[in-house]
Amino acid sequence: MTPTTPRQVSNWIEGRPIRPEGTTSHPVLDPATAKVIANVDFAGPELVEQAIGSADQAAAAWRTTSLAKRTQVLFAFREQLRTRTDELARLITEEHGKLLSDAAGEIARGMEVVEFACGIPHLLKGGYSEGVSRGIDVHSVRQPLGTVAIISPFNFPVMVPLWFAPVAIAAGNSVVLKPSEQDPSAADLMARMWREAGLPDGVFTVLHGGPEVVNTLITHPVIKAVSFVGSTRIAQHVYETGTAHGKRVQALGGAKNHMLVLPDADLDQAADAAIGAAYGSAGERCMAISALLAVDSVADALVERINERIGDLRTGDGRREVDMGPLVSASHRDRVLSYIESGQQDGATVVADGRRVVPDGSRDGYWVGPTLLDHVTPDMSVYTDEIFGPVLSVVRVPSYEEGVRLINEHPYGNGTAIFTRDGGAARRFEYEVEVGMVGVNVPIPVPVSYYSFGGWKSSLFGDSHAHGTEGVHFYTRGKVVTTRWPDPTSRGIELGFPVNT
Ligand code: NAD
Repeated sequence: MTPTTPRQVSNWIEGRPIRPEGTTSHPVLDPATAKVIANVDFAGPELVEQAIGSADQAAAAWRTTSLAKRTQVLFAFREQLRTRTDELARLITEEHGKLLSDAAGEIARGMEVVEFACGIPHLLKGGYSEGVSRGIDVHSVRQPLGTVAIISPFNFPVMVPLWFAPVAIAAGNSVVLKPSEQDPSAADLMARMWREAGLPDGVFTVLHGGPEVVNTLITHPVIKAVSFVGSTRIAQHVYETGTAHGKRVQALGGAKNHMLVLPDADLDQAADAAIGAAYGSAGERCMAISALLAVDSVADALVERINERIGDLRTGDGRREVDMGPLVSASHRDRVLSYIESGQQDGATVVADGRRVVPDGSRDGYWVGPTLLDHVTPDMSVYTDEIFGPVLSVVRVPSYEEGVRLINEHPYGNGTAIFTRDGGAARRFEYEVEVGMVGVNVPIPVPVSYYSFGGWKSSLFGDSHAHGTEGVHFYTRGKVVTTRWPDPTSRGIELGFPVNT
């Protein structure tokens, strides 16, 4: 049930919510009802400064905490996530709109990264070489950076912060999280969970706000690294500004994910996969399939199968027995509707029209039903742009080669999938396609936590992907130590360059 009195979401600094006099609040709406469900405090410049200062102090102490103790905190945080999944999922659904089951799914995927980070003692092990020269040994260590910032988007208010925070914290850093202002409550609950798990105050800070807070974080001298996830325009800004201020930056941007269906594919399986990947979470997933490339003769049969299945999908309030929830805001809904309109005007065939949806929910919600556009061509904006809604565009291509050419020429390169029974074609696709995450008969190939998540081209700015060993490297820096404990009999001054003997 939606609470009748909006909750207050405050900034979380030094292990508690802080609300100085004069704090300005911004409404958070339930997208299924358009009602104000919460008010979130935006941090002013002084509070941001206070938060960064306390995070930095906490980082100095936290890095001295033993690996054994850090690991215990991570295990306890995982337990918090596990036992309070329903509570957290409810907050996600109330503010984002996705189904409760989908919200629980994103928590489960985030939990996998916590589990990965529980192995930090192993992940931080360095190398040791005995006797590299006479009486000299060498070893390597990886040390934390200090205080790092995470700036997250609306579409995964739990999973995206958890791609980064557990690894950064396990490695000995403190974290300042700036969640999306559209669904801030999950970050607040996670801050409480970290405290319950025994994390010292100040190691996990939450600052709410918009561009001003982001721009302070990405230019502030105390912040050593920035992990950003959001639209490509802002990702590029964060990357360019952050790196110009001497920070490590990984900035994950937008996407336009293609699914290539070859004539030999199992078309029922491909249709099911396309439906799930295009319309799950109302298409508001960075790994959603939004362009279906149908090779040669398969298009008619595939469009027919997808259209049949769309007829069974129920759109409505994510707390009910439905398949798809609302879009996150009225302005985003209008943007998605305008793309459907322009696709139609540009000559695409509207096979299933989400504008006519009859939702199982309040009339005031931000609804768009599953939409299927056929005969889309690569020059149309429904193909070139990220729509981030439940709109699947079918592009008919004459061959495998033409399909791969389109994927490789598209500016985005987050995820892609091929559907085929031909192992040789799949292997060739894997080799040739210029995309960071590839599925073979798997429509949403989100890597498990011990691999790294990230796209290519305009889908990621920077060198490091999220979590896995790349995440550990991102949040640490290497040091190599050369040691001699001389035998007291070996003395003498040496001015020459050290050469190993
Ligand atoms: P967004 O870019 O609007 O916002 C992301 C973050 O940036 C938010 O915290 C927001 O407050 C902040 N922000 C917004 N405008 C800003 C500005 N002018 N200056 C500085 N900061 C600003 O993105 P969104 O709408 O919240 O999320 C959807 C986008 O995120 C989609 O493009 C989606 O593809 C992308 N995304 C990508 C991935 C990935 O892995 N590549 C994952 C999830 C989402």
